[in-house]
Amino acid sequence: MMGRRLTFSSLGFVLFIFLTFILVPKARGWSKEGHIMTCRIAQNLLEPEAAEAVENLLPHNLKGDLSALCIWPDQIRHWYKYRWTSPLHFIDTPDNACTFDYSRDCHDQHGLKNMCVAGAISNFTSQLLHYREGTADRRYNLTEALLFLSHFMGDVHQPMHVGFTSDEGGNTIELRWFRHKSNLHHVWDREIILTTLADYYEKDVDLLQKDIEGNFTDGIWFDDLASWKECDDLLSCANKYAVESINMACKWGYKGVESGETLSDEYFDSRMPIIMKRIAQGGVRLAMYLNQIFGNPKEGFSSPT
Ligand SMILES: [Zn+2]
Repeated sequence: MMGRRLTFSSLGFVLFIFLTFILVPKARGWSKEGHIMTCRIAQNLLEPEAAEAVENLLPHNLKGDLSALCIWPDQIRHWYKYRWTSPLHFIDTPDNACTFDYSRDCHDQHGLKNMCVAGAISNFTSQLLHYREGTADRRYNLTEALLFLSHFMGDVHQPMHVGFTSDEGGNTIELRWFRHKSNLHHVWDREIILTTLADYYEKDVDLLQKDIEGNFTDGIWFDDLASWKECDDLLSCANKYAVESINMACKWGYKGVESGETLSDEYFDSRMPIIMKRIAQGGVRLAMYLNQIFGNPKEGFSSPT
């Protein structure tokens, strides 16, 4: 089955990539390293039907490498055409409540319903479920839907993406990360990942990713893997992931942190394993979504291959 492809010319596409890289504003989302690892972990877990669908939907010249565009939604969120996607990267919950309630919290700042990361995962999942209907008469841009789903599955797992409203998920809590200025949100988006890479992996993202994968293929998270993948309804499971995130944000993100302080070794050592686990969970669950979306819809009737 042939999927739809973006119709960029090669030159146009190179220009597109170039422009998106130089026009990146300060983003609120997993860093590019976090998103790239999430998407690569997922892609390594795809079954053949999902792998083929992903390759069909991606721009031709990426040769099926999903991770190459997993940060695209962060790059275009301030473009006029895509400004509506900006609230889809996070959820603001009531201060100090440490709970997520979809009907209460999943809206943008104007109160528009479903405009949050959990709503976006549900929306783009339901769009992608039309993929099986074939190439003609598509209402949706399924390439964009794939990129958005892949990105937002990462974001919903970053604990501080489901944070308190008044501090914008820790963005307004300014502090120091070791010697340089940062903020609490950015510590979780990127600082801890960069410090991990620098201290333990010679800045090699591939090595870190392999370690994360090893922890669930036959390591400390192996026994948890089945429970990570539990999902009866793809259109609502992201709510569960958002609840996990706000719980972690309260327990590990905000706890004991004061504006203006310096976070260093103690905070790093205790939070780093949590972030690595969230990247793993994001990847495993993205694969589970894509395998279900693009796989055989009637598992009981599938013939052995
Ligand atoms: Zn994001």
